[in-house]
Amino acid sequence: MTAQTPPPTKKEFCIAYPLYKEFTFAEEHDQEGWNVFFSQEPIDTYCPECNAHSIFHQHNNGNTPHYIDAWAGSRRYSVLLRCSRNSAHHLFFLFDIEGRTVQKIGQYPSLADLNTYDVRQYSTVLSREDFKEFTKAIGLAAHGVGVGSFVYLRRIFENLVDAAYQVAKSDSGWDDEAYCKGRMAERIQLLGGHLPEFLVENRSMYKILSQGVHELTENECLAAFPVVKMGIELVLDEKLAAAAKQQKLEEAKKAIHGLVSKAGAEVRSGTSR
Ligand SMILES: [Zn+2]
Repeated sequence: MTAQTPPPTKKEFCIAYPLYKEFTFAEEHDQEGWNVFFSQEPIDTYCPECNAHSIFHQHNNGNTPHYIDAWAGSRRYSVLLRCSRNSAHHLFFLFDIEGRTVQKIGQYPSLADLNTYDVRQYSTVLSREDFKEFTKAIGLAAHGVGVGSFVYLRRIFENLVDAAYQVAKSDSGWDDEAYCKGRMAERIQLLGGHLPEFLVENRSMYKILSQGVHELTENECLAAFPVVKMGIELVLDEKLAAAAKQQKLEEAKKAIHGLVSKAGAEVRSGTSR
């Protein structure tokens, strides 16, 4: 970790940072280091007990050091965040400090519990197996596991591309040979109109999916993770929107049908003028 890397905020270090991943705060970042352990700044994040986003505040136990570099040295700090809806809802983090190097060595609830909330909406548009693997991938990536999390994501991405292919191949003029021979970026291009536009425009980002897992390092996989995850979410967002539209159409049909049959009944019984 170089000194040029911007230091994580309190929220990033608590909620998104993997356990045991070290960060060394440069001397000019004393304040940022102090903030991680003592800042009272509100944190907006998911509360597993409310099962919704909430605002959390740090509960300080009274011994807040005034010097901004007082946290450095050889010590451990715990951070207790309290949900503003219910002060019995806690997020707990334990940090170990050696010199100016900080790592999170414990937390409750787990990283996976805090980070999979935003994808729960997709459980209705993914198969059970794919949804399970999606949350597993996010949990693994949160713990810094690159290749393992990437393998799960790649499979889900390929399943979604294949679902689009099953529809596209009945299009007139479909070139099945080009598709079968193509690598991932070419396949995405051929599926234009059946996949989100953003994905098609940025298909070169998905070249990495044609590489063998054995060719990739942990860090390459971790770096590609958000890109592939975003691609999956874009496809799923369109599926969610289509499902919501379909539901609304059906409700409208029912409402219109109800109105029509009610009007018919009134005409028959002579109540309508
Ligand atoms: Zn809560």
